[in-house]
Amino acid sequence: MSEGGAGSGAGLGSNADEPPTRSRDDGVGTVFLVGSGPGNPDLLTVKAKRLIDSADVVLHDKLPGPEILGEIPEAKREDVGKRAGGEWTPQEYTNRRMVELAREGNRVVRLKGGDPFVFGRGGEEAEHLAEAGIPFEVVPGVTSAIAGPAVAGIPVTHRDHASSVSFVTGHEDPTKDESAVNWGALAATGGTIVVLMGVGKLPAYAAELRDAGLDGDTPVALVERATWPGTRVATGTLDTIVDARDEAGIEPPAITVIGDVAATRDRVVGFLENAGSAPVRSASERDDAGSDSEVGASAATD
Ligand code: SAH
Repeated sequence: MSEGGAGSGAGLGSNADEPPTRSRDDGVGTVFLVGSGPGNPDLLTVKAKRLIDSADVVLHDKLPGPEILGEIPEAKREDVGKRAGGEWTPQEYTNRRMVELAREGNRVVRLKGGDPFVFGRGGEEAEHLAEAGIPFEVVPGVTSAIAGPAVAGIPVTHRDHASSVSFVTGHEDPTKDESAVNWGALAATGGTIVVLMGVGKLPAYAAELRDAGLDGDTPVALVERATWPGTRVATGTLDTIVDARDEAGIEPPAITVIGDVAATRDRVVGFLENAGSAPVRSASERDDAGSDSEVGASAATD
């Protein structure tokens, strides 16, 4: 069972010139923890693309999005995300399956949305693989935490508006008595706050941030399905964003960006053409209304 040190840390620190799989006497395959980027196939890294193409099996959830998943042959895809009936595949199953497939000698790509180590349980999977003595490699991806705002015209830092950025989960473990996120401390940074998994609990953390002293006029943007076909953006302020979310019907996956940088979008959106497969413009911007209080969402449908 023990592989000694053979598998531990495999791949971390390997360089691009190395072959993607290390040949091992015991016939155990390598697992690649691969970030897919936010969903547009053009934002896959060259390495991710190459590994997906050459993998025996791709274990994935829904987050890589329909375009990337649609390009992977059915025969080598295994969905370990939400199952019919809305249940999640238990993490233990995914862990077990990765090890099983690797021990059968397969090249396994564990494909995760964005970057595998940003709120993706990639860390847990890496530890599990190391414990099981399975060689693995981590292939970073373009995280939606940065790319989501970016394609909506929002830089997460800006020399004039934000010198720091925090990435936080909006989805608290309901079994936790106390919030693991210190919203008050985040409000005090004066920097950008990017919330992942934060659509449902938006009213709760918007209120916490206001209670902690963040101005109700602080710009906020929601970026839904960033870089997927049909990317949508809703904008507002800490005071208005819940209504904007509801009016637009914003649903997961979406990124919440809170801070002065969110208003950058208003200054650039007229010329923004790179929002995935189609430009994203809000209703107020199309009408050239220019009012700060206006919120809008647009469906950039193909
Ligand atoms: N590892 C991923 C994040 C996984 S957590 C990454 O680095 O991007 C899941 C959350 O990611 C979602 O609830 C949503 O907040 C965000 N997310 C992932 N892909 C997204 C996309 N294309 N558009 C908007 N949000 C996205």
